Amino acid sequence: MDREFDAIVLGGGPAGLTAGIYLARARVRTLIVDTGTVGGQMVLSYAIANYPGAPDVTGRDLSRAMRRQAESFGCTVLPLADVTALELDGPVKAVEVADEGRFTARAVILAPGGVPRKLGIPSEAAFEGLGISYCATCDGDFFTGKDIVVIGGGNSALEEAVALTKYASSVTIVHEFDHFQAQPWAVAEAEHNPKIRFLMAQEVREFVGDGSLAEVVVASKHDGAITRIPASGAFLFIGYVPNTRFLEGVVDLTPRGEIVTDDALRTNLPGVLAAGDARAKRYRQITTAVADGTVAALETVAFLNAPPAA
Ligand SMILES: Cc1cc2nc3c(=O)[nH]c(=O)nc-3n(C[C@H](O)[C@H](O)[C@H](O)COP(=O)(O)OP(=O)(O)OC[C@H]3O[C@@H](n4cnc5c(N)ncnc54)[C@H](O)[C@@H]3O)c2cc1C
Repeated sequence: MDREFDAIVLGGGPAGLTAGIYLARARVRTLIVDTGTVGGQMVLSYAIANYPGAPDVTGRDLSRAMRRQAESFGCTVLPLADVTALELDGPVKAVEVADEGRFTARAVILAPGGVPRKLGIPSEAAFEGLGISYCATCDGDFFTGKDIVVIGGGNSALEEAVALTKYASSVTIVHEFDHFQAQPWAVAEAEHNPKIRFLMAQEVREFVGDGSLAEVVVASKHDGAITRIPASGAFLFIGYVPNTRFLEGVVDLTPRGEIVTDDALRTNLPGVLAAGDARAKRYRQITTAVADGTVAALETVAFLNAPPAA
C-alpha cells in the first residue's frame, strides 16, 4: 500500500466519501482512513427518504454506493483503522495507523462525524445490546412482534419510530418535552401510524429487566407520576456527540467539541480542513455532510495547487 498521498481524509461517512470522490476525480492521490466500517451514521438509518434522487435507498446501500464511487476514481479506503498518532501542524501531515504504519500528505480533511448521544443513566449501559439500541437498521429485526420504546423527539427519532413499526407490534415514543423538535411532516407521519403512541414530557428514570430489557420506567415532568412501560426494546435517538476527542489541543474546537471552520471549511491550521457533522454548524444531514465534503475537497485542490508561500 502507498505511504505518500496528496490528501488524507479522516472519516468515511458521507462527508469523507464525498470529499474522496471529488479529490480522486481531480487526480489528487487520496487516502480515506476510517476507524469504523465506513459509511458513518448513514448505516444507522433504516431508510433514507430525503436524499435527493434516491427516495427508497437504505443507509447501507447509500454508503456502499458512495464508497464504490470513491474507489472507482482511485481513492484508497482504509477501514477499521486504529489511528495512533496525528501530526497536522507542519507542511507535511502524518497519520499513524496501528499495524499499517505512517501515511503522509500535504492536506488533511477531518470528517470524523459523531456518535449517538446516550442518556447516561447507569441501567442504560447494563442493557446495551440486551434490549437497548441506537440503530434501527442494525437491530430492528430482533424486535419483530414485540413492544418497544423509542426515546427522542427530533426527526431521527420520529422517522426511525415509523420504520420500526415494520417489525414491532407497538412503538411508544417517549419525549422529554410537550412538543417535538421534529419537522411537522415527521410528526404527522408518526401520528398517523396506528402502532405508535406518545408519552410526552417524560424523564427516563430506569431500564429494568432480568438479563434482558423488560420495562422502561419514566416519570412525568409535570407531576412526577411514574409510568412503567413494558418493552423488550428501547431505541435511543437523542442527538449526537462529535468524535473530536482526538483533536483536542490539535485544532480549534468549540466548547461543545465541534471543529471551528471558516466558509471554505478551513480550520486554524494551513492545509487542514473539516467537513460534516463534526464541525460547528446548525444543520446535520447527509445532504449537508455531502455538501461539506464537496467544499472541503475543492478547497483542498486549490490549496494543493497554490504556489508555495514565498
Ligand atoms: C439514527 C439516525 C438516522 C439518521 N437519518 C438520517 C436521514 O434519514 N437523512 C439524513 O439526511 N440524515 C440522517 N441522519 C444524519 C446523518 O446520518 C448524518 O448527518 C451524516 O451521516 C453525517 O455525516 P459525516 O460524514 O459528517 O459523519 P458520520 O456519518 O458520523 O461519519 C463519520 C465517520 O468517521 C469515522 N471516524 C470517527 N472518528 C474517526 C477518527 N478519529 N479517524 C477516522 N475516522 C473516524 C466514523 O467511523 C464514521 O464512519 C441520521 C442519523 C442517525 C444517527
